[in-house]
Amino acid sequence: AAKRRLDGPQLYDAALDSASAQTLSLLTELRRAVEQNELRLYLQPKVALQGGHGLAAEALVRWQHPQRGLVPPAEFIPFAEQTGFVRQLTLWMFDAAARLLADERTRGMGLRISVNLSTRDLLDPALSVRLGAMLVRHGVQASAFCLEITESAIMDDPQRAEAMLNRLSQQGFKLSIDDFGTGYSSLGYLKRLPVDELKIDKSFVMGMQTDENDATIVRSTIDLAHNLGLTVVAEGVENAAILERLRALACDEAQGYHIARPLPVDAFLAWHAQQT
Ligand code: C2E
Ligand code: CA
Ligand code: CA
Ligand code: CA
Repeated sequence: AAKRRLDGPQLYDAALDSASAQTLSLLTELRRAVEQNELRLYLQPKVALQGGHGLAAEALVRWQHPQRGLVPPAEFIPFAEQTGFVRQLTLWMFDAAARLLADERTRGMGLRISVNLSTRDLLDPALSVRLGAMLVRHGVQASAFCLEITESAIMDDPQRAEAMLNRLSQQGFKLSIDDFGTGYSSLGYLKRLPVDELKIDKSFVMGMQTDENDATIVRSTIDLAHNLGLTVVAEGVENAAILERLRALACDEAQGYHIARPLPVDAFLAWHAQQT
């Protein structure tokens, strides 16, 4: 069998040279990561561009590996999606985010947290019940959460996805279409689904200054979102010029390295304290 390769630095040495041994090993390691509490909740601020409302952030996972150090999600999320392990990871992230919202350090902040869902989550009939149980356990409101879903996750099985999104929306969760513009776009589903937000993919935002097509896509997406009554967020904002251009285009919120990198919880709270 062909050797399975991971993007970026290799997690495992050549000693494990069969694909199945590597798969088994990574799965064992991921299970251990959850048991030994090696996963970390990072938060990246999402700021309002047109004034108003409280603080929002996207929850992004990191793996504090005992040998490899801090492992980025690109090195294990695709694998976690293939194996279905991502459902456990999603629950871990949601639990960590809910715990933070119940923490006295965030009280009165009006903090809202966006959590990423995968295709596997969306097709899991137990998802809404599991999330609901965690809300009860931590005593937090569904409306403090936004669930980010990619277009391709929805288009994998649009009927089942629509049923799940309707349930999540009825529970009070806000819903966002992530990486908007990169997927198999069908504008028809946009008006059918109970979506609250569009998130413009960072490839278009990062290209805005140098590529007229990217700038046009960003402008059109902002207009489309507003015409449909949706909030629109730009991700991948890396400099002040792009931030100002987005503000002038009436984009509602921005997220990116220019504002802040994804931060561990303590650093995120310190960042917020410095803003005010
Ligand atoms: P995403 O959901 O599109 O998340 C945004 C990614 O863009 C994050 O990468 C973030 O660090 C990065 N980013 C933010 N601002 C900038 C910027 O100004 N410039 C550039 N170049 N990048 C920026 P990250 O944290 O490495 O996550 C990568 C992907 O891994 C995420 O893309 C998401 O698809 C997945 N992921 C991360 N955490 C989770 C999770 O808890 N659950 C699931 N299912 N997927 C996750
Ligand atoms: Ca996301
Ligand atoms: Ca995204
Ligand atoms: Ca992405």
